[in-house]
Amino acid sequence: MAHLPGIPEGMPGFMDQIAAFEPSPVEAAARKWVYVPYDRLHDGVGPLSETVPEGAVVVMMESRAKGTRRPYHKKKLTLVLSAMRHFALEQAERGCCVVYGASPTSFADGLLQLQERWQWKELVVNQPAERELRIELREAGERGLRVRTMEDSAWLSTTGDFESVFGKLDTTKNVDGKRQYLMDTFYRAMRRKTGLLMKGGKPIGGKWSYDSENRCAYRGEVPVPQRPSYPPDAITTEVMELIEQRHPEHFGNIEGFDLPVTRAQSEEAWAFALRNLLPHFGPWEDAMSSQHRELFHSLTSPLVNLTLLRPRDLVEQVAEAFASGEVPLASAEGFIRQLLGWREFMRHVHEATDGYRLLEKGPIPDRNPYAGADLSYLDAHRKLPPVYWGVKSGMFCMDTVIAGVIDSGWSHHITRLMVLSNLATLCGFSPRELTDWFWFAYVDAYDWVVEPNVLGMSTFGDGGVTATKPYVSGAAYINRMSDFCGKCPLDPKKTLGPGSCPFTALYWTFLERNEDKLRHLQRMWMPLNTMRGRNAEQRSELRERAEHAIEQLERGEVVT
Ligand SMILES: Cc1cc2nc3c(=O)[nH]c(=O)nc-3n(C[C@H](O)[C@H](O)[C@H](O)COP(=O)(O)OP(=O)(O)OC[C@H]3O[C@@H](n4cnc5c(N)ncnc54)[C@H](O)[C@@H]3O)c2cc1C
Ligand code: SF4
Repeated sequence: MAHLPGIPEGMPGFMDQIAAFEPSPVEAAARKWVYVPYDRLHDGVGPLSETVPEGAVVVMMESRAKGTRRPYHKKKLTLVLSAMRHFALEQAERGCCVVYGASPTSFADGLLQLQERWQWKELVVNQPAERELRIELREAGERGLRVRTMEDSAWLSTTGDFESVFGKLDTTKNVDGKRQYLMDTFYRAMRRKTGLLMKGGKPIGGKWSYDSENRCAYRGEVPVPQRPSYPPDAITTEVMELIEQRHPEHFGNIEGFDLPVTRAQSEEAWAFALRNLLPHFGPWEDAMSSQHRELFHSLTSPLVNLTLLRPRDLVEQVAEAFASGEVPLASAEGFIRQLLGWREFMRHVHEATDGYRLLEKGPIPDRNPYAGADLSYLDAHRKLPPVYWGVKSGMFCMDTVIAGVIDSGWSHHITRLMVLSNLATLCGFSPRELTDWFWFAYVDAYDWVVEPNVLGMSTFGDGGVTATKPYVSGAAYINRMSDFCGKCPLDPKKTLGPGSCPFTALYWTFLERNEDKLRHLQRMWMPLNTMRGRNAEQRSELRERAEHAIEQLERGEVVT
């Protein structure tokens, strides 16, 4: 056996280790065959939870084509492959047989080849979360894969829950342009269904949402605790070397990888977050800090999206921590709203719109099934500029957040929304390009979550199907909610001329440019009226300042 990089001398590499757990012919004939996709790495969900380990053959598959479809962040590929490999070994240790494949072409090809070899009667799988994997499994079924799909029990809600709020879905027709899915309506229904933070049919504390209490800037009032870190073991190191070899040109730094890759590590990281971070999560949920990228955020999204953590456990534990007085109501509600509300809502919207394809104008184009829907309600088609790839723009907020994403593949909600997406929306950069950028740059991005968050909500690409107004602001918001502006060579209080922060001029010209498309939105009336109060000369100066900044960004220059 050849010695593999990253594995100590004398120790077999992962593929050799796992091969020892393949079933004997008797086991292959007697056991239930369960396919565990890359994002359902928990034996407490789906078909695996309904089988004793000694009765199961776990089938897992790596697809090189999936890894190269986009220039995914090297840390994301490391996380996914390492977590899959650790999971496979853990299942073997529990007593499952494991058949672990790797296909250069597709999941479909890989699974069909394994079926050819093992001749299983039936392979059972959770309904895949990603549209991309659903397509591959459907195609494999058409080519003869004997696969049975079960409803995915990893979610907190069902399609029926979503339909009971918004009506029956027809996913073969374009969605009516006037359709609007409101997260808040869905969230309330889910609180009632689950009974989380409810008493006597009413929300505890009398309010459904404490969003308005989650808007403090962070000025060091409470020290940010040091999180546990999980440096690479032999399996992760082997994966890292594989990725460096196969995808040297991919986005992001691989050095310093320290994310949890097993369920035990994930649960430890979550226990730390629940005890030390959640109590302070609520008030500083929207704050941004150049010193503390993560502040009091749980950093659970990469883990929950792979099912290293189950959302059910998280929301129940947060509700218990509130009941025992460890976590205040605003923090507990804020966290539960993200998981039970936003996360579930987004995946339903994605499914209901076939990954936003049913929102495109005109007949649905017949094209490569992996090419994303191309929407832009605001007709934004400029190319995403070099700053998103780390070329310095001189805008401290942008450069800081992007450097953090290149380093870690993560930043929190408000930096994604009010810095990265805000700038793109104001400048008129293409929502599709921005979505694809988020998709490969973030460790927690999968089609069902990144497309509704970016193509739909944050850029207003869907024209209001998921948001009641565009999420845009000038420099004042970033200045209030962060320490970025104090460190920036540009002046957040200056609107025009050299050295002025471009966000403000961009904001006013955005409103002017899109007035016709926004005038029907009640929440935009006030800003639109303020914009209309400016005379022609002022507007022209604002346009000139904004255009100058966009041109500099497009040329990859420092904004002056
Ligand atoms: C432009 C943009 C792009 C985004 N892209 C992604 C993405 O690719 N993947 C992703 O998981 N989240 C995405 N989000 C949502 C959110 O930013 C992240 O889930 C969150 O920042 C993760 O940090 P955390 O784990 O510390 O979560 P916390 O802030 O501690 O929140 C708790 C949990 O809520 C969930 N959550 C919170 N908000 C959302 C949301 N809007 N949609 C889905 N889940 C949510 C996360 O899974 C997380 O585990 C995006 C948001 C924006 C504005
Ligand atoms: S001054 Fe403008 S560009 Fe600089 S950090 Fe503040 S908002 Fe960003």
